[in-house]
Amino acid sequence: HAKSRGGNGYQFFNESMNKNAVRRLQLENQLRQALRNNHLQVHYQPKVSLKTHQFVGLEALVRLDIPGVGIISPAEFIPLAEETGLIIDVGERVLRQTCRDMREWVASGAVDGRVAVNLSAKQFLQPDLTQRIMNILDEEGLDPKCLELEITEGVVMEDPERAIQIMTELHFCGIHLALDDFGTGYSSLAYLKRFPIQTLKIDKAFIDDINGAERDRNMVASIVAMAHNLGLDVVAEGVVNAAQASTLHHLNCEFAQGFLFAQPLKRDQFLAHIKTPVKKPAHVLLN
Ligand code: C2E
Ligand code: MG
Ligand code: MG
Ligand code: MG
Repeated sequence: HAKSRGGNGYQFFNESMNKNAVRRLQLENQLRQALRNNHLQVHYQPKVSLKTHQFVGLEALVRLDIPGVGIISPAEFIPLAEETGLIIDVGERVLRQTCRDMREWVASGAVDGRVAVNLSAKQFLQPDLTQRIMNILDEEGLDPKCLELEITEGVVMEDPERAIQIMTELHFCGIHLALDDFGTGYSSLAYLKRFPIQTLKIDKAFIDDINGAERDRNMVASIVAMAHNLGLDVVAEGVVNAAQASTLHHLNCEFAQGFLFAQPLKRDQFLAHIKTPVKKPAHVLLN
């Protein structure tokens, strides 16, 4: 504390600003170095059916794995990658690695369904986005129907008309589209109706207290009903216990991701995980 060390408040403020600046610089260097040395890693989190708890698809989540430092989470470096423009390189590598892994898994019969990849604002607004993505799919030999792109509300609402254009192009190519972190941004319902998306992902913030707070439960029920009325699938994010999974199932939410089922896993762990038989949920055992 500044006072207890005999300094003044300004001193303390400057010190903490300084610390942030230093950390930022360090992180930027780590990111650049990771890109040079190929230390980006793609982990995969399964998506399951809430009816059967069986695997139905997966999401690719990037990490920096720096020798001697450890794993740095995307929550930490993606915003910086956005600011510096490095996100374009990061995003392209994640997409390429994901398509490569998925192609192998689909070809061997280990996996079917779709793999979802997150897109941030700068990536989404690249003028030649569709062409770039189609080139990567083509080069890696993955069918566009095996790919899903996740875009957050915030990104599409920055310029909704332009977003509709881009999404229409991607959808026309056979790529599925999901609106990520739904409920945390401010999607206008008028736009939601016009977005050519197929899936809505309900943010973890609504799931956390779904059994404790009636308001949260009602909110999720409404989101699910609205999504279904618009012809969209619904995925609940951040499901950590069986009670949440059961409530979501009763609210007609059909899919989920979360630590209850699996954390994001390295590719080999992921493959081992989806080969192990699932424990059936209580509502299936009862029938
Ligand atoms: P997101 O796309 O909403 O991904 C869900 C995040 O929640 C992931 O964090 C995942 O590990 C975490 N998660 C999943 N289930 C649970 C759970 O049951 N409990 C808790 N506490 N967390 C859970 P992660 O991997 O740290 O990624 C954070 C965010 O970073 C992602 O949020 C996404 O917005 C962004 N991101 C990750 N990978 C990429 C990427 O390749 N490109 C871009 N542009 N963004 C990415
Ligand atoms: Mg996501
Ligand atoms: Mg999300
Ligand atoms: Mg998120």
